[in-house]
Amino acid sequence: MAQRGGRNESDFIASLFEVPCESNSGSLEAYLADIVSRCGDWFGATSISLFLTDQDPQKMQLAASAGLAQGIPKDACIEVGMGIAGIAAADGKPRLIDDRNQASEFRHLVGRAKNPVESSMIVPLMARVGCIGVLNLARQKGLDGFVQVDLRLAKGVAGHLALAIENARLVANLQTERAKFESIFEGLGSAAFLLDEHGRILESNLAARDPEIRQLSLLKEISGPYSPKALEVSDSNSGRSWIATLNPIYQCATLILQETTEYEKQRQEVSRLSRLAEIGQMTAAVAHEIRNPLTGIRSAAQMIKQAPETANEFAEIIVHEAIKLNDLCDEFLNFARPVQLRRVRIHFAGVVQRVCNLLRPEFAAKGVALDVQIDEEMPMIVGDPSGWEQVLTNLLINALQATPAGGHVGVGANPYRFWVEDDGQGMSEIEAERAFSPFFTTKPQGTGLGLSVVKKFVDAHEGSISVSSEPGKGTRFEVEFAKRRAA
Ligand code: ADP
Ligand code: MG
Repeated sequence: MAQRGGRNESDFIASLFEVPCESNSGSLEAYLADIVSRCGDWFGATSISLFLTDQDPQKMQLAASAGLAQGIPKDACIEVGMGIAGIAAADGKPRLIDDRNQASEFRHLVGRAKNPVESSMIVPLMARVGCIGVLNLARQKGLDGFVQVDLRLAKGVAGHLALAIENARLVANLQTERAKFESIFEGLGSAAFLLDEHGRILESNLAARDPEIRQLSLLKEISGPYSPKALEVSDSNSGRSWIATLNPIYQCATLILQETTEYEKQRQEVSRLSRLAEIGQMTAAVAHEIRNPLTGIRSAAQMIKQAPETANEFAEIIVHEAIKLNDLCDEFLNFARPVQLRRVRIHFAGVVQRVCNLLRPEFAAKGVALDVQIDEEMPMIVGDPSGWEQVLTNLLINALQATPAGGHVGVGANPYRFWVEDDGQGMSEIEAERAFSPFFTTKPQGTGLGLSVVKKFVDAHEGSISVSSEPGKGTRFEVEFAKRRAA
């Protein structure tokens, strides 16, 4: 055939490889128009059209045309599975259709075509994702019909076209994705860096251009090989703080610095406010508790003034009330004082014995039995001895106050825990829930501080405390020692 051979041939083959590098759709369109017109020359076709799928894989739109096919309206489209081209797109098989080919499966369709042609080739464009279009080549009546060699060549051309189009689209996609990523990256409120394997900055976003962030020693020290990490970073000069998250990507890594300065300030403010609220509550409780003994002292003093002969009797009352005030001061101070974390090795059995000996007279006076049960193997524990004494005293006094005459209170301990139990009045579920809150009390003379002091101390020693109770049956407090006890 005249069109094949010499310059035309090498020109055509070379033009197939002139794949558009810029991804804008204009250059792809121009490339397709060029290829389609060269196909016309090369195959001696009088009508050439190329249909391509776009968003909808079931529809192919006219992408380029040459020769008689230039008459096809620009918005023409083919549905996959419909018509000759649609069927070729659906099954991916190229076809050679000839008027004289009586066996053609498309005989009936060809017969109905508006511009009856002598011979045509319908070649699907097969890409990695499947069929992305169809190339139609036709020769008018009066010319030689296409032969199998033409079909094979057309198939090769279509394969190359499919690859070129797919690549151009991939590049376009990559560029859109990159543009999207860049816009997110730039707009991130956190400072973001891309680091190479030596810790050098490859890319950084707007927030990362902050000079104070650039000065952070973290940025100077960091270097590969990287592993995922999150760390707290702070700068004493500016008083700012961040959470830094490092994530390796191949040899490189992303580093994101999320500023926590404001959050830290707020956290400190919240804890300051809650401390203030606690002080407020405490002041009210102190005033309330001090008033009763003070009233007693004032009336006793007035009595002495009016009738000096009663001085002895009322002086007793004054002393008694003064002692009460003193005890109250101790309790408040205990609550307000931060827990002493003296880590001394102590015999817990000795602590229990000392406290029980001190309290025994009070138990005897009320007629409540006090049983002590301590494991022979009880080892030494670590902590502040006077703190543990305070804990036991508070629990035992509560038990004594809750138990009527004739009742029993028991103290026990083993290497893991100790407990104080009684068969007294017990607590409702709500009371048990609130028992450890500061200032919660059901007693007319109570301060509601005993158990919160106990809890604060146990928490500070990394132990835990729990209560089980039933109204009318009794109560059991159990304190678990910290897991790492002294050997
Ligand atoms: P206070 O003894 O001053 O009331 P605590 O903090 O020691 O304060 O106790 C809080 C509350 O918990 C008590 O008022 C009481 O209602 C309840 N409680 C504590 N221990 C017992 C117990 N062993 N049996 C019944 N109730 C108890
Ligand atoms: Mg108490």
